Amino acid sequence: MYNDTQYKTDEEIRLIKESSLLVGKTLAEVAKLIKPGVTTLELDKVAEEFIRDNGAVPGFKGYGGFPNTLCISVNEEVVHGIPGKYELKDGDIVSIDCGAVKHEFYGDSAYTFAVGEVDEEVKLLLERTKESLYKGIEVAIVGKRIGDIGFAIQNHVESFGYGVVRDLVGHGLGRNLHEKPEVPNYGKRGTGVKLREGMVLAIEPMINLGTKDVIQEKDGWTIRTADRKPSAHFEHDIAIRKGKAEILSTFEFIEEVINK
Ligand code: MG
Ligand code: MG
Repeated sequence: MYNDTQYKTDEEIRLIKESSLLVGKTLAEVAKLIKPGVTTLELDKVAEEFIRDNGAVPGFKGYGGFPNTLCISVNEEVVHGIPGKYELKDGDIVSIDCGAVKHEFYGDSAYTFAVGEVDEEVKLLLERTKESLYKGIEVAIVGKRIGDIGFAIQNHVESFGYGVVRDLVGHGLGRNLHEKPEVPNYGKRGTGVKLREGMVLAIEPMINLGTKDVIQEKDGWTIRTADRKPSAHFEHDIAIRKGKAEILSTFEFIEEVINK
C-alpha cells in the first residue's frame, strides 16, 4: 500500500502544491454548502465537478475501490466515511478529506467543520486538533525525525485528555497518494526516519474526544470511534525544508468561507 519514499525536485514540489491548492479551493466550495439539511452526497458531487472543471481528477475515487471523491466522516466517524443520503444537522461535526491529481501529482488535505452550533467541548476538540497539526509542522524540518512530529502532536492533544488514533497515520505523497515514510500522530522525540529536503509529507492528526480506539464499520471503509464520541481530522501537505516547512496545501479559502 505504501510506495517507497520518493525525493522530489522543486519543480515536482511546485506541481504537488498546485494540486494541494486545488484541494483547498475544492474544500472551500464544499464549505459554502455545509448547513443543516444538505446530504453528504450533495457535497461530494460539488467537489467532483469542481475538481474536474479545474483540469484535475479526484484522487480518492476508485482508489482501493473507494466509490467517491470525498471521504466524509460525521461525528464519531473518524475517517473514510462514504458520502450518501445522510443529512447534516445542527450540532454535527463533519470531517471532509479530499484528494486531487493534476499533472500526475496528488494533493491531499482535510478539514473538520462545525454544522451550526456545536457543544463547547466539541468546538475545543476541533481547535486543538488543528493546533496539533501546526505543532507537528513546526518540527517537520531538515534534521528532525518522524518521531518528533508525532511527539509534538501527541503531546499537545493528550494534555487535554484526548485520544490519538493509532491505526491510521499520515504519509509521504507525490505521484502516489501514499508513499513512505508513514507519519504517525504519536511518537518519541529523536526516533524514526530522518527528515530530508525533497520529502513531501501529508500530516494528518486524527484526534478523538474519548478513547483512541477505533473500529471499522461493516461498509468496509468507515472508521469510527469505539466509544462513539466525536473525532476531528485536519490534514496539510508539506515539503521538508531547512528551518521551516513549506506548507503546500491551504485552509485560507475554507476559512474565508466559514469565518464570514
Ligand atoms: Mg487525506
Ligand atoms: Mg492523507
